[in-house]
Amino acid sequence: MMEQTGKDIATPSRTRDIVEKHGFSFKKSLGQNFLTDTNILHNIIDAADLSEESAAIEIGPGIGALTEQLGRRAGKVVAIEIDQRLLPILAETLAPYPNIEVVHGDVLELNLHKLIEEKLSGFKEISVVANLPYYVTTAILMKLLEERLPLSSIVVMIQKEVADRIAAKPGSKDYGSLSVAAQFYAEAQVAMIVPASVFIPRPNVDSAVIKLKIRDKPAVDVLDEACFFRLVRASFAQRRKTLLNNLQNNLFTKDQKEQIIQVLEQVGIDPARRGETLGLDEYAALTNAFIRAKMLQ
Ligand code: SAM
Repeated sequence: MMEQTGKDIATPSRTRDIVEKHGFSFKKSLGQNFLTDTNILHNIIDAADLSEESAAIEIGPGIGALTEQLGRRAGKVVAIEIDQRLLPILAETLAPYPNIEVVHGDVLELNLHKLIEEKLSGFKEISVVANLPYYVTTAILMKLLEERLPLSSIVVMIQKEVADRIAAKPGSKDYGSLSVAAQFYAEAQVAMIVPASVFIPRPNVDSAVIKLKIRDKPAVDVLDEACFFRLVRASFAQRRKTLLNNLQNNLFTKDQKEQIIQVLEQVGIDPARRGETLGLDEYAALTNAFIRAKMLQ
């Protein structure tokens, strides 16, 4: 484990000093809200269970507040930052940490399989640990999950409202296609709630840290993943409508009403139920039944 080197970046005064020294102006459009509380950073890192033998990928290092803490705990850190103006700042703030590599780029555009192969081969445990830019939270999380990257966990600060949706159980108001998608690939748990006061500048929403422990294989067996997600999205398209209505309107046609009812009954699901009451196992059974009935492919 690396020794602590100098003052932590994550304090309000040090953050202001660094920002002023480099004449940096925050870009709201890039979701730039920097963390200024070292205790919260330690809690985030504890949730990721890092060690010298593990590696971390950070998305959006900002001025390096979380990055330096990751560098002290993990064997190697790769931090992906889109904003070129932050690169010279990071070169300075992270200079004491030879195990941190900053990559300039948009995480949504980068080939992460290749990045892991090139920069983190040899590490058995790789976690994504980040304070995500809130304007692209869902897109980033879905990319990390759907691409089946060799990750053991994803521990990220996001909007509390999105964290609640990800961890929601069937029947609750927050349960939706994002809950199903995240829980298909991972065990989701809200690790802590974080007040807006620990960021500079303050975001105008509450934040939470969510931990996604990636499953070795998806939570349920489906014959075709794309069909499963099409069915799930269609089932939640209009939340107040019944499952039958949503399936008729958003996946099949009105002419197929009788066939839809037949498949629903075959799987033991009442056509009058709403999408938000179905668990992952029921969505999986329904997907497989529609595929076997040659209604989905
Ligand atoms: N990690 C720092 C912290 O906790 O103080 C900064 C977090 S800030 C919420 C989000 C960071 O993500 C910013 O540095 C921003 O420039 C960067 N960012 C925004 N969009 C990005 C993208 N598409 N790819 C990579 N980084 C991005």
